[in-house]
Amino acid sequence: MSENWIWLIPNDPHYVPPADTHDRAKALMEEFAPESEEINLEVYEKPGYFGPGENGEGVYCPLCGEDLEEWLDEWLEREKESYWLNPETKMPCCQETISVYNLDFSRKAGFTRFLLDAMSPNVLPSEQLAELEALLGCELNQILIRI
Ligand SMILES: [Zn+2]
Repeated sequence: MSENWIWLIPNDPHYVPPADTHDRAKALMEEFAPESEEINLEVYEKPGYFGPGENGEGVYCPLCGEDLEEWLDEWLEREKESYWLNPETKMPCCQETISVYNLDFSRKAGFTRFLLDAMSPNVLPSEQLAELEALLGCELNQILIRI
């Protein structure tokens, strides 16, 4: 049995919404995804990479479209002590220097310090997403994961 999750992460990988919004955000998520068996809100020290692992992150170069999933795994392993300090790097495909935060994750992965998730197969409609964005003070990426 696979599990479906929706993950909400801020567009800015460094952004953490004010602590006094967290309880309300979880309550809204419970309201929006009432069938969800589990809802989590996590805050991390530094932007971590979140993807569904071997189910395929779908990581592409935003400049030339090259599949960079394997390259990113290796790069993160090599740079794990410092990647959040220096996320700019040369793309292996087109040799342009960009931030790994700006790779194209095709809504299957991302970097973040803040994660709000629900075990739910149902995508939040845009008006619910907008309500959470207003509460948390940021634009959110909605990521769909099947684990
Ligand atoms: Zn490229």
